Amino acid sequence: MVSSDYFVAHSAKLIAQRRSFQKALHAWYRVHQRPLPWRLAPSLYKTVVSEFMLQQTQVKTVLPYFDRWLHALPDFIALAAASESQVMKLWEGLGYYSRARNLHKLAQQIAAQPKPPRTPAEWRELPGIGPYTAAAITSIAFAEPAAVVDGNVVRILARLAGEGRLFRDGTAAVKYFTPLADALVIASQPGEHNQAMMELGATVCVRQNPLCSSCPVAGFCQAHSHGQPEKFPRLQPKLIEQRAVTRLWCEFGDRLLLRRGHAQAKRLAGLYELPEATDLQCPTPSAKLLIAVKRRAITRYQITESIYRLTLTPALNKKIKAQADLEWIPFDRLPSITLSGPHKKWIEEQRKK
Ligand code: SF4
Repeated sequence: MVSSDYFVAHSAKLIAQRRSFQKALHAWYRVHQRPLPWRLAPSLYKTVVSEFMLQQTQVKTVLPYFDRWLHALPDFIALAAASESQVMKLWEGLGYYSRARNLHKLAQQIAAQPKPPRTPAEWRELPGIGPYTAAAITSIAFAEPAAVVDGNVVRILARLAGEGRLFRDGTAAVKYFTPLADALVIASQPGEHNQAMMELGATVCVRQNPLCSSCPVAGFCQAHSHGQPEKFPRLQPKLIEQRAVTRLWCEFGDRLLLRRGHAQAKRLAGLYELPEATDLQCPTPSAKLLIAVKRRAITRYQITESIYRLTLTPALNKKIKAQADLEWIPFDRLPSITLSGPHKKWIEEQRKK
């Protein structure tokens, strides 16, 4: 792998060539950008909603949610006045629900001000806004010269400059590449520059098999000229932790037992899920009662969830009554409550059997 001196030299070369780099990138973006709904007739509100939805989430997943959201809540005033349950219902299935709660609070703060804040530093005072989102929103909506730096941008910069050092994690890599990203931003068109970088990372300079032969900045790229772009950036492999969870399917008459996330819970506040065996201090039920096994990954956890059918007994009923967060929900009320995404799917699957 190449040395840091090599990176410094090639970063300096890239910065010296930044006018022609930007020209090539922007010319490509104007022709090849995808016609995404937040780019057509753009507004501050559309930019903010799309940036929240796109955190940790792919564009194709976001598209139907974005349309539904804009239809129901077309501006900051409408969002500020919406109930929390309406906001959560519109977000249902998109995951990382703290984003929806923060977006709701942010709209209430913006609606209460005579005009929205403009600088990245002012935006970072608002709920749910980190450096990336502040730079994205203010560069696109207010032409603030702030560079966005996320995994996509890190990948492009590491390849362009041929940086071969090993990073502890994505956060360390973002910090390292931010000065180079800032140096490449065009002061007159920061929003277009940032969107072009994001688009390049999403559609051309992808993780596996980057499309170097159709890349507009291939002529500036060290990794391409050495023929090994996929080796960059180098990140320490994540330690994956296995977790096993025992879930319960307990129905009585026309109702299903669900657990409602505590209001202060970080991830699942207000969301319904199938209860865990530990909620009712149950031992793992007999294997004969196993009705489904589901696997999913959340951050560094690989989770295996085993769902067991449980029959209601007087002793169990007593335990349920003692737990304020356990609720019997009629099946016909399920569409009106907000379930976490996987649980909504699992319950639908189970009911179809
Ligand atoms: S030439 Fe290839 S590796 Fe280099 S920036 Fe373009 S797509 Fe990425």
